[in-house]
Parts: sequence; structure tokens; C-alpha cells
Amino acid sequence: MRSVRVCVLGSGSSGNCLWVEAGATRALFDCGLPMRETRRRCVEAGLPFKELTDIFLTHEHADHSYAAGVLGRKLGVRVHATRGTWRALRDPPPPSLRHVVRAGVPVKLSDLTVAPVAIPHDVDEPVAYRFDDGIASGAVVTDLGCAPPPLWRSLRGLDALVLEMNHDLRMLVEGPYPWSLKRRIRGDHGHLSNEQGAKLLAHVLHEGLRHVVLAHLSEHNNTEKHARRAAEEVLDRSRAKLSVASQSRALEPLVIGPHRPRQLALFA
Ligand SMILES: [Zn+2]
Ligand SMILES: [Zn+2]
Repeated sequence: MRSVRVCVLGSGSSGNCLWVEAGATRALFDCGLPMRETRRRCVEAGLPFKELTDIFLTHEHADHSYAAGVLGRKLGVRVHATRGTWRALRDPPPPSLRHVVRAGVPVKLSDLTVAPVAIPHDVDEPVAYRFDDGIASGAVVTDLGCAPPPLWRSLRGLDALVLEMNHDLRMLVEGPYPWSLKRRIRGDHGHLSNEQGAKLLAHVLHEGLRHVVLAHLSEHNNTEKHARRAAEEVLDRSRAKLSVASQSRALEPLVIGPHRPRQLALFA
């Protein structure tokens, strides 16, 4: 049976990287960990690192794009990014591997369709991504200051969602960061708070949503407990499984397949 395998290899301000695999397509969404560490975590999680086919960048910040150049050069994989990201990328892969994506224009790979979605962040043309193999779908949504309605409308019907819950607002306000940085993080082009992430989750929650992974948690301005609590309030009696991404290790890979009606879940 067809399915999509998803693994958060790491998430946080020191590096974000998500593995998504469907049939012959093996893609990374962001590659902010060093190549060696990415490979090590793939091997540990049982993922075929050497068979990587594509990389999709959300934006040029180093915690999302750090290894794009070296992975392109070493593995010869296609690297996809918006024009704005390409213009700003410090160490791009060779020109023959560069592919331009645009928000609202899906990219069809052999076994996966990837749709870039515009998000507000303090760079030129940042995107989130929705991916779909025709049966199961997921999305990775991090590094955004707010979640306008067109964004949550584009995330309807997902099976799995990797969602930013960057900070607890109170911890951020009372925490050690300089005022200018606090203002940037809280701004409409900064990062989602737990509360904002929970609101976005409420908009996209439906019976078929089976996995929610909270991501990009701030080391100084959030805790797993705060983020979980905000998400749990929304998920309530939903059967979605909640997990929290780690900066230091990969999570257990998730397999998302076709929907099953709720009454059959007892026999699954
Ligand atoms: Zn980031
Ligand atoms: Zn960023």
C-alpha cells in the first residue's frame, strides 16, 4: 500500500530538517543541520540518505539552508527555492541543480506533489510547504510571524502537520533577549507563539488529522510543556498523535497512509 514516510531530523534555531519519502521521491524540507549530522540522523532513523532526490528550502536563514550547497554538490540532488531565497542564499549548489518555486504553483515529482505556500517572515519570499502523494498529505509550517486566512485555508485536509510553536509569549517578554529582538520575534514577520500556533491548529483540525509535530521551539523562551499544553487544549478529544520535535535528535519516523473511517480504527 502506498504511504508517505515523514521524519523530523531536527528542529530549532540551530537547524531544521524534515525527511519526506513517497515511492521513489526522497526529499528534505530545509537542511539546516551540517551534512554529516544529517546523514548520521538519517542512518539512525533507518532512512536512505544516499537516495535523496530533492531539497526544498523555506527561506535562506542558516538554520534552514546551511547544508544546501554541500548536499547539492555531494549528492547531485535538485534544490528548490523561491527567487527571493536564491538571491539571498550564501552557499548555493551549482546552477544546474537550482530550481525556482513560486507560492501557489505546485511542483510535481515522480511520487510526490509539493505546493509552496506564502508565509510572513522577515526575508524575501519565504514559503511553507504542503506535500501530497495523492492519498496522504502533510505540511511543514515554521518561521512565520502570523497565520493569515489564506495560509490556513491552504492547509485543510492534512494527515500530518509539522507546526511552529516558537515561544511562550510571557517567557519571551520576561526573558533575556534584547528588546529589539523580542520585538522582531513577536512581530508579524517573526515567529509563531504557542498561542498563535494553537489558533492555526484549531483552523486546520479535522477528523483525518493524525499527526501533529510541534517544531522550532525556542531554547530560551519556551518549554516542551508549555507548547504541548497549548496544542492539547485544541486537540482535546481528537485522535491526532502529538509529538514535539527536538534540536538534538531525530524523532521516530511517521508513516501516513490512506484515511480510515473512525469506526474501523478499533481494528487497526
Ligand atoms: Zn528558523
Ligand atoms: Zn527564519
